[in-house]
Amino acid sequence: KKQGRNNYQYYLPPEKTEAQMERFAMEAMLRKALEKDELLVYYQPRIHTKSEKVVCVEALVRWRHPSLGIIPPGDFIPLAEEIGLIAQLGEQVLRKACKQIKKWQDEGMKGLSVSVNLSPLQFKEQHLPGIISRILRQSGMRPEFLELEITESAAMQNVGRNILMLRELKEMGVKISIDDFGTGYSSLSYLKKFPIDSLKVDRSFISGIHQDPDDAAIVNAIIVLAKTLKLRVTAEGVETEQQYLYLQQHHCDEAQGYLFGKPMPPETFEEWYMLNTT
Ligand code: C2E
Ligand code: CA
Ligand code: CA
Ligand code: CA
Repeated sequence: KKQGRNNYQYYLPPEKTEAQMERFAMEAMLRKALEKDELLVYYQPRIHTKSEKVVCVEALVRWRHPSLGIIPPGDFIPLAEEIGLIAQLGEQVLRKACKQIKKWQDEGMKGLSVSVNLSPLQFKEQHLPGIISRILRQSGMRPEFLELEITESAAMQNVGRNILMLRELKEMGVKISIDDFGTGYSSLSYLKKFPIDSLKVDRSFISGIHQDPDDAAIVNAIIVLAKTLKLRVTAEGVETEQQYLYLQQHHCDEAQGYLFGKPMPPETFEEWYMLNTT
């Protein structure tokens, strides 16, 4: 046993130490990026299926790493959550997104709204409505144009408190949507307790619409459920004309996906908007 302890370092696989060092370096760089406000926000259009107009953009964060290039959120959001930086990150995204949308509205993109993803950890912040209200005031954007995307699991973590917080946000005029709908494990009863405005059907169901009858059945059921509860319903991850047609025919209110446009930096979205809305 004694020996085992002494030899511990020796037997550590080298990959592990390397991974730890890499993580350590990532952590330091992420801190610096946040301090220097270096995160980027990309925008992906969401289309109203009846009018075929862009009604909203989803704000999706990106990190421009000095040597690794553009890093997707899946590669650094979990780290930010782990090391306690997610609140700061989330605030920066909210601030940038509101400022950008207000600017676009003033430049003529009338009625454009923005949806911003909230981490479950941000959701736990006691003063979130206060933070959001301040960001809205500072940006000059009206609350009705902001939608917050939360996941079922985030909402279910502290139901009592979350209902109060969501009501407070709702009273301010902010919209709430359930992201990745259909992938959580919670009961559906929260849908009537929570002040929700819309459901976003997870991409995994949309991609199977024409391959798997079960997926099509689930999508149809979610659309009907949303209509019955008077909620808006958005399909995520729409990639083909065939899927889009199906969603139009089944009265899905809105659609988002690579078929219309990938998440784009602001300048690229401006060009996309010019080409797609005249
Ligand atoms: P999400 O909220 O479900 O966002 C949709 C993801 O699907 C985005 O990936 C988007 O680029 C991708 N996507 C959109 N349309 C299509 C399509 O037609 N096909 C395929 N294959 N993919 C499509 P992204 O930007 O890498 O974001 C991944 C996740 O990271 C997001 O999933 C969200 O959970 C999280 N995230 C992004 N930005 C933020 C943020 O500012 N704060 C927090 N807390 N999470 C964020
Ligand atoms: Ca989302
Ligand atoms: Ca989603
Ligand atoms: Ca997702």
